[in-house]
Amino acid sequence: MPVFFRSRAGRQCLLLVALGVALWAIGAMLEFGDRLAAFVSAFDSYGADKLVLALAVGGTMSFVYSVLRIADLRREMELRARAEARADWTATHDHLTKLPNRYAFERKVVRKAPADPDAISEDWERNVTIFCVDLDGFKKVNDLIGHNGGDALLIEVSKRICAIGRADCVYRFGGDEFIIVATGLSEQHEERFARLLIQAVTRPVYIDGSAVEVGASVGYDRWAQDSEPLEHAAHRSDLAMYEAKSRGPNHYLAFQSSMRDKVALRASLEAKLRVAIQKKSILPFYQPLIDLKTSNVCGFEALARWTDDDGANISPLVFIAIAEETGLITALFEDLLAQACRDALAWDDHLTLSFNVSPVQMEDRLLTTRIFRALAATGLPAHRLEIEITENALIQDPASAAAILEELHRAGVQIALDDFGTGYSSLAQLARYRFDKIKIDRSFIATYRDDERQEKIVRAMLGLGRSLNIQTTAEGIEEQRQLSHLIQLGCDIGQGYLFGRPMPAEETLSFLANRDLALAAG
Ligand code: C2E
Ligand code: CA
Ligand code: CA
Repeated sequence: MPVFFRSRAGRQCLLLVALGVALWAIGAMLEFGDRLAAFVSAFDSYGADKLVLALAVGGTMSFVYSVLRIADLRREMELRARAEARADWTATHDHLTKLPNRYAFERKVVRKAPADPDAISEDWERNVTIFCVDLDGFKKVNDLIGHNGGDALLIEVSKRICAIGRADCVYRFGGDEFIIVATGLSEQHEERFARLLIQAVTRPVYIDGSAVEVGASVGYDRWAQDSEPLEHAAHRSDLAMYEAKSRGPNHYLAFQSSMRDKVALRASLEAKLRVAIQKKSILPFYQPLIDLKTSNVCGFEALARWTDDDGANISPLVFIAIAEETGLITALFEDLLAQACRDALAWDDHLTLSFNVSPVQMEDRLLTTRIFRALAATGLPAHRLEIEITENALIQDPASAAAILEELHRAGVQIALDDFGTGYSSLAQLARYRFDKIKIDRSFIATYRDDERQEKIVRAMLGLGRSLNIQTTAEGIEEQRQLSHLIQLGCDIGQGYLFGRPMPAEETLSFLANRDLALAAG
């Protein structure tokens, strides 16, 4: 029914028309026309004909006026209805991809089911699976090709997803996250569908003539129609997607309850980490760095150690990652660095302190200020501090990374490129920045004696260091034969369990004394 007739004015208009027709019918039945004609001729001398004519003209004019006003009103109402529909569309759709958004998902799908069984279409009676797709590496691509390019990529990706799923069942949830509501898929089909989604997203997209690629992580789960709101299933598919993402790009996973346990464990670890940082119970341990020419200790690398209240040792790989994600890294870094600088003052003046800086810390505008503050507060000379960074720290924002490194260099702080060889742009980084040291990742040292190609790579890395006049450190030396070979190849510094494991500050002094004694004894 047109908008106008659904309104109060429209209903009144219909009522009046009906009333008019009824009156006319009654008039016709009672032969009102004949009576009127008789009346007019009887009172002709009093001007009754003119009165009837005036009433007829007036009535016609009123009728025309009403029709015009009704037409206006109708137009007005249609405009308003269209504006409302537009506002509703804007609120429930993503402007870029034109897909419905999270709000639409909540409103149209979640609220409909299962509380309102009438609203469940036939489709919903079959099983429903929620797929969550998140792009891998989108941010990097966006930085690389600019926002317009990123937008074009998102539009193309959304079209491809719609081509697989039903277009009205694809939602864009966040920046690069999509939700697909699929019905009637068997378990095998769910898997195939997830694979198809990854294939569709990862095919190269051509933007301004060049091919751009992103990955996709997919998680999915079924909705238990009778016992939960749909958003619960969406949440589970989200958890599965995160788990898939943690396994690297282009993975898909169905939800499992262990994923929820993992999230709960992470939340509890995060809470414990906050307390541990507050109580300063995370401490730096120190692993010796050995000058391979003289066999003397030339410094220590500080490595964070955390034993929780239950006596369990939590790996820095775990808690540093949580600290990075939650922003706790800054407080942790400041405490550990200040403590490490104080501990380093107890060593001989020529020993350096190597300290790890996380990639996310390169976004901290106050990073250099924090480092200088720690040096000033403890009195450790800048040249005794060496900052270890990985290539990942350099690629995010190369210009600001260069500025940070330059400022540290100017102050006399040394810079080491950590985990060398594990990133993807090592050579580019070496050309761009001035490093004092490169640390060859321990994965190369662990296997290189058994693997000819690895040996060639290590040899090449050492040669690279020599020709660029940068010192090289080999990490993860565990065996004498590895050491002998590295010495033979001209590696400058060694680190690994063969020389010493990370130890508490108190043990560093006895370690140094024992090593001196051992060297003196030959
Ligand atoms: P990394 O900087 O590459 O540190 C070297 C890691 O290799 C340390 O592990 C060390 O214990 C281990 N390692 C040393 N020698 C050997 C060996 O001979 N064999 C083997 N298999 N491993 C050896 P750890 O202490 O578990 O630290 C792991 C990573 O956690 C570090 O890798 C570093 O990236 C990060 N990390 C540790 N402490 C800190 C910190 O205070 N701040 C930041 N940002 N990251 C830290
Ligand atoms: Ca390191
Ligand atoms: Ca390393």
